[in-house]
Amino acid sequence: MTVPFLDLNALHQPLKDEFLARIGEIIDSGEFILGSAVEEFEKQFAAFCGADHAIGVNTGTSALHLALLACGVGPGDEVITTPSTFVATVSAIVYTGAKPVFVDTDPATWTIDATKVESAISKRTKAILPVHLHGRMADMATLKEIADRRGIVLIEDACQAHGARRDGTQAGVYGDVGAFSFYPGKNLGALGEGGAVTTRNAEIARKVRLLRNWGSEVRYHHDEHAFNYRMDGFQGAALGIKLRFLDQWTEGRRRAAKHYDRRLDDLGVTRPSDDVGRHVYHIYAILVDDRDRVISELADLGIQSAIHYPIPVHLQRAYRNLGYEVGDFPVAERLAQKWLSLPMDPNLSESSVEQVTSSLASLI
Ligand SMILES: *Cc1c(COP(=O)(O)O)cnc(C)c1O
Repeated sequence: MTVPFLDLNALHQPLKDEFLARIGEIIDSGEFILGSAVEEFEKQFAAFCGADHAIGVNTGTSALHLALLACGVGPGDEVITTPSTFVATVSAIVYTGAKPVFVDTDPATWTIDATKVESAISKRTKAILPVHLHGRMADMATLKEIADRRGIVLIEDACQAHGARRDGTQAGVYGDVGAFSFYPGKNLGALGEGGAVTTRNAEIARKVRLLRNWGSEVRYHHDEHAFNYRMDGFQGAALGIKLRFLDQWTEGRRRAAKHYDRRLDDLGVTRPSDDVGRHVYHIYAILVDDRDRVISELADLGIQSAIHYPIPVHLQRAYRNLGYEVGDFPVAERLAQKWLSLPMDPNLSESSVEQVTSSLASLI
């Protein structure tokens, strides 16, 4: 038996007729961009996150970009973030003209080390941008305390954390504003690209709505220099259908994670602390030595694994101009060399987990 990394087809097949019916309705109505399907999804997603506002956009990267802009981040500002993330977190900061300032990663939870944030704050610091990596929320209580005390904005990269919760607060509303991605492989994925900004702040929501649509409330009247970051109707419809199943899918991921935890503890495999509230397991990763060999031997046994992500952002060539070097963030660098993502899927069965872990046991 092969174990795929993620089986999207199995999630989509039972919904295919419903997708096609809604897509047919949109073709008939001509509401290809924004429109009622997107508005409906925005309401449902806001309710799901406990937000007053959710604004649908075309990608998670755009959601981050607009969240930053709506908080007033721009040239001359600094934004504190983590090098242990997908590159888009950092790209979005650079799009605004602000400078990303990295802080090393917490070795226990793999999210930004909140105890190191304060010493990275300067007069130019405008925002802190933690990433809820792999679906595990950052230490938001500490970050919020720092942000509030220092008068800094707190923006969540929740692109991997749909439905995560910590201290009783949902991802996307713990800070001032949150950014979600609906890239197909995310816990809630579109049938194409998609993203959303969530907030309880009416002014931030107003700005994001303006900025995603050419700075225009009245057609051909442009109040701000802005973008075309609109969500399309098909994606709004598909996301509305899939959102109904998200809690159930998350429970499936959490069940699979428990099975992994039990087996891997027996094997003495190193994994991060999951004492972080409701972790939604976008990714289930462990640390292994000799990772390339393990990946290829797992593949020989029919098990797909992956790396999220092999190079921390401060060492990516694209951002060499920021001036960071090997050794600047030893935790982030060590994790990037060792972490390995195992199959994780809402329908991943206990027997598949057993197959993955017993194969691992024979390799490490
Ligand atoms: C996926 C992702 C993004 C970007 O989202 P897109 O929809 O692909 O633009 C940003 N940050 C993180 C942490 C992500 O995982």
